[in-house]
Amino acid sequence: MPQEHLPFALPDISEDEIEAAVEAMRSGWLTTGPRVAEFEREFANFLGGGDIQAVAVNSATAGLHLALEAIGAGPGDEVIVPTWTFTATAEVVRYLGATPVLVDVNPSSLNLTAASVEAAISPRTKALMPVHFAGLPVDPAVRSLAAARGIPVVEDAAHAFPADDGTGPVGAGDAAATVFSFYATKTITTGEGGMVVTRDPALAQRMRTMRLHGISRDVFDRYRSTAPAWRYEVVAPGYKYNLTDPAAAMGLVQLRRARAMRDRRAAIAQTYLDAFADLPVDLPARGGREVLHAWHLFVIRMRTEGGRSRDAFIEEMAKAGVGCSVHFIPLHLHPYWHDSLGARPDDLPVASAEFERVVSLPAFSAMTDAQVERVVGAVRRVLT
Ligand SMILES: *Cc1c(COP(=O)(O)O)cnc(C)c1O
Repeated sequence: MPQEHLPFALPDISEDEIEAAVEAMRSGWLTTGPRVAEFEREFANFLGGGDIQAVAVNSATAGLHLALEAIGAGPGDEVIVPTWTFTATAEVVRYLGATPVLVDVNPSSLNLTAASVEAAISPRTKALMPVHFAGLPVDPAVRSLAAARGIPVVEDAAHAFPADDGTGPVGAGDAAATVFSFYATKTITTGEGGMVVTRDPALAQRMRTMRLHGISRDVFDRYRSTAPAWRYEVVAPGYKYNLTDPAAAMGLVQLRRARAMRDRRAAIAQTYLDAFADLPVDLPARGGREVLHAWHLFVIRMRTEGGRSRDAFIEEMAKAGVGCSVHFIPLHLHPYWHDSLGARPDDLPVASAEFERVVSLPAFSAMTDAQVERVVGAVRRVLT
């Protein structure tokens, strides 16, 4: 009996998100308006509030770009980036004329490590960009190292909402800025969107200015009392990175559902961990008791003695009607990064080796129990 194809990822959208987006459209606020301001406030509150400021943007890529721009990264600067990430993390470094320095990852967590970062620090190091891969927070020792060396941290938390490394929620720590993604497949979504959070008011102000054409609210507000409403001041050649109200309306509902959706992914992950314990695969690291894993991705690794290559596994799963994916093709194995940085596979041995055997299984919150069981059955059939 032919089975319906289960895609690798689907968004988890209820009638509430649909109604909220429609209501925003009916209100006339199609671009940035009151719902974006409310989304920023609610997002900052979710992380603990206080002096945390949230700046909504139209992608995490935009947020990473704004954060690096605000800390002043430019030509001649180096920014440390794990090779185990999506190209967005490193491309924004290039937008500013700076140079990404790729570092290797821990073979268990696939996150960068204090040792790999330490070895990459130079007098030109301007920033460090840790990536909380799959939603497992980076070891806090990495942040301590950066703090001790006076290196600002711009966290790529595209996978890590909500997550906690045991010292507090990702985004509520001492990073200069933390950037979340609301892309269609991420843990909460606005279709396209993102959020930058920071405790530094100067950084927040610079990012707010640069997110909308370099128009300064403060300068604007200073003139507001005396000048006509059409008056504004351009203080820099900014970007067009603002989020829309219909997207923020979706985001507000997703934010309210974020913990429940995370718990659903954690339950799916637990089912997989139990069901695959006897198979010839390495299961993902889950972090210590103190860690809250966002479980954005569930990544297994083929053991060579299993006798099946990763590519063959994905093909077999597709025949069984289950979509799989690979996270990530390390940056140094892509032509652009390989050629422009001269990074060879031997320079980043863990990532080069682990890439050959990783597979991401469907693990999104909208999955039904029957779909989870289908994945379990297909994986067990293919591997035994
Ligand atoms: C998805 C992703 C991004 C980019 O997010 P967008 O919102 O699509 O710009 C950046 N980094 C990582 C690790 C990602 O997975």
